[in-house]
Amino acid sequence: MSLDFDEFLKGLWGKSASESQNWVKWVHRNLSENHCPECLALDGCWFAGDKHPRYPHHPYCHCVLENIPKSVVEKKAEAYADYKKFDPYLFNTKGEETHTKERMFESWGYNVSDSNWLKQGVEKQGLKKYISGNYKLGLLNKYGQRISIRIEIPNKNTGATVSFIAGFMVCPNRRIRLTTPYGGK
Ligand SMILES: [Zn+2]
Ligand SMILES: [Zn+2]
Repeated sequence: MSLDFDEFLKGLWGKSASESQNWVKWVHRNLSENHCPECLALDGCWFAGDKHPRYPHHPYCHCVLENIPKSVVEKKAEAYADYKKFDPYLFNTKGEETHTKERMFESWGYNVSDSNWLKQGVEKQGLKKYISGNYKLGLLNKYGQRISIRIEIPNKNTGATVSFIAGFMVCPNRRIRLTTPYGGK
């Protein structure tokens, strides 16, 4: 696909929402015998100062929120999407999935040959929106904190911008990882 994602994104960022300036790192401290699984999963995760899991997380929570300069977040944060999330999963190339998510993308002019482009686009846009605080907190459990991010791509047939929700896991050490390439409209 010849469409340049950077060029496409330039058009979008002009209208981006207000940015979160203060960032925090969730730090779990080993001060008791009982290690709560949720706090352990949050240990080392980065959040926008106005968009982090409830803190303190519970009575006697020993966690602390350390401030991180926004400049560090901009320089160090990373987003990762496994190619397999698109091929075979999203486009169901092995016929093993029961979802019909590929139909939405096909209606926008995409097929499995766009998997790499989508992977890179979702990583780039996911990172940009994470850094600007444009995400929603989702489920938090012992596996970690999910966030959802709205991804915008061009409809190849009409040229209009279409969007969908992608799901990410916030990982320790400045990272978010794609869990759900298409989580709804
Ligand atoms: Zn806890
Ligand atoms: Zn805690």
